Amino acid sequence: MSALQPARGTHDLIGEEQRRFHRVAEVARLVAATYGFDEWQTPIFEDTRVFSRTLGETSDVVTKEMYSFDDRGGDSVTLRPEGTAGICRALVSNGLTQSLPQKVFYAGPMFRYERPQKGRYRQFHQIGMELIGPAEPLADAEVIACGWDILKGLNIADDTVLELNTLGDKDSRDAYRTALVAYFTDHQAALSPDSLNRLDRNPMRILDSKDEADRRIVADAPTIGPYLTDPARAFYDKLREHLVRFRVPFVENPRIVRGLDYYGHTAFEFVTSKLGSQGTVMAGGRYDGLVAEMGGPPTPAVGWAAGIERLSMLMDAAPPAPSPVAVIPIGDAAEATAIEVLQSLRANGIRAEMAYRGNVKRRMERANRTGARAAVILGDDDIANGVAQVKDLTTGTQEAVPFSQIASRLK
Ligand code: ATP
Ligand code: MG
Repeated sequence: MSALQPARGTHDLIGEEQRRFHRVAEVARLVAATYGFDEWQTPIFEDTRVFSRTLGETSDVVTKEMYSFDDRGGDSVTLRPEGTAGICRALVSNGLTQSLPQKVFYAGPMFRYERPQKGRYRQFHQIGMELIGPAEPLADAEVIACGWDILKGLNIADDTVLELNTLGDKDSRDAYRTALVAYFTDHQAALSPDSLNRLDRNPMRILDSKDEADRRIVADAPTIGPYLTDPARAFYDKLREHLVRFRVPFVENPRIVRGLDYYGHTAFEFVTSKLGSQGTVMAGGRYDGLVAEMGGPPTPAVGWAAGIERLSMLMDAAPPAPSPVAVIPIGDAAEATAIEVLQSLRANGIRAEMAYRGNVKRRMERANRTGARAAVILGDDDIANGVAQVKDLTTGTQEAVPFSQIASRLK
């Protein structure tokens, strides 16, 4: 039988890659905590309606990318393609809509049926944050600043640029939509079939098309600026002022729209030129309508998500695990004492290992091979005297150390 491979678009995380991955989530969690965000975990699968109702009928995710299936009881469930809908569902299900603001951080796997390529997978992982409650642009600036601080904490901020846009309020979007439909209708002969489809249902989505011919047409499309209402413009002005105060550098890009339908006002992406066409590492915006779609009261909210794979591709190699201490009994009788020493090292937070078999020579060889920094050698005579030989494997020096002092010596 041929060896089985991971399912297409999935990958195993082992060794350095896993450490790097872990570091992304850990740094993000710590930085988010300094901003007062607490972590939530929602289920990896949800009732399909959590996504189909909210992400927008015409979004790529809903039309092409969801892993949905009927379970054995006949209920339609979907592996979560993103985190925000589940968090809003959880806010409503847990009766937290009256306890605002809620400041939520999350990290975990997401699933989309996509064509796998570098930086694009079927099971991928995101960190993300949602600030639910405040309608003020200060909230938008704060979640962006937190994202920026996370990128700084990972040492990759210099590789990214924050691109900012506004999608305005509903009146702005309605006016803009009319202008876009007029423009794209004039050019419909050259649009891709996907974009023609979007023309009736959600013309703003065409701005996000990855099709080359579409992009040439998009380049000259009207921008939202002239269609912004006064309140929408004031909101955007305030956001930019705040970003300056938070010292987050940005450029404006009127082509930034979000892939999902529930966004308004703020839309932003942190992009890099280092990952080819998969250049968006962190993306987010304001989604004031989503909680109501989920059956809660109208509730403003803003947030972002970032792909852990893309972040970790930008990072330097993660530091290796600390090198271990090898505990080496000489002969079978010493093994009982060696286990006690081994466990006392571990109880003191020291990475310690003991081989499962072999003579002293073999065990020393293994200790060197695994990069051990020290060996604790236990022979019968030393045990009788309550000491062990502690050998520093980098310098080669060795001395007898009483049992009670071994851990502190090796800390
Ligand atoms: P794209 O335009 O690249 O398809 P998107 O708009 O679908 O991105 P979002 O839904 O905004 O992406 O997800 C936020 C982030 O999650 C992306 O910026 C990216 O870093 C990451 N991401 C999205 N889809 C994938 C995937 N299939 N594989 C790896 N990372 C992904
Ligand atoms: Mg996508």
